This record gives sequence, structure tokens and C-alpha cells, in this order.
Amino acid sequence: MPQNTTQSQKGFSLRDFVRQYGNEAQCADALDRWRWPQGFVCPACGHAAEPVRLRTRELLQCRHCHHQTSVTARTIFVATKLPLTTWFLAMFFLTQQKNGISALELMRHLGA
Ligand SMILES: [Zn+2]
Repeated sequence: MPQNTTQSQKGFSLRDFVRQYGNEAQCADALDRWRWPQGFVCPACGHAAEPVRLRTRELLQCRHCHHQTSVTARTIFVATKLPLTTWFLAMFFLTQQKNGISALELMRHLGA
């Protein structure tokens, strides 16, 4: 009997998840890579160059027009009070079961 290639894919374990997205910096780096896979592009002027990274406020500042943005600006994570690790963990749980996950179960897993 032929195997369904989608169903027989190797899973992404919780251990893999924690190794890859276990802290805020790893989650922010992932958002950075997903938003600007070819490198930072200023959303205001379109200038493509490595931005100035303002560590005190976790902002990226365009070297050309000085527009400030962040990896969460214009995403569903903007102005969230929850850490990115909580959102990423929620996404992990949401995608791990074929039939999804209930809000109550998700709340229990996240400890919220
Ligand atoms: Zn700019």
C-alpha cells in the first residue's frame, strides 16, 4: 500500500521547537527572517540596508530616512502584551494536531 507522503513526514517535536524558538530573541530573529528574507527593507522609503538596531527599545531604524520600526510592527503581534514565545508555542500546539485544539486545552498548555 502506497504511503501518503504528507502523513508520513517526520514531525517537528516539542524538543525541536524549544531548541529553535525557546526564547524571545530566537522568536524575534525568526520574525525578522520571515519579514525580510532578503534582508531589511525600510517600510517607509524602501531602502534596503542593514538597519541601526536600537537595543534599548528593540527598534530597527532605517539608515536612509531614520524611520523606526520593529519586527512586530504591522503583524498580528504588534502591541501584544504576551511574550513572542507564548505566541509561538500557541502556533506550535495549533499545528500539531489534525483536528486542531480547543481554547481550553490551549490555555492549559500555555499555563494562561
Ligand atoms: Zn527608510
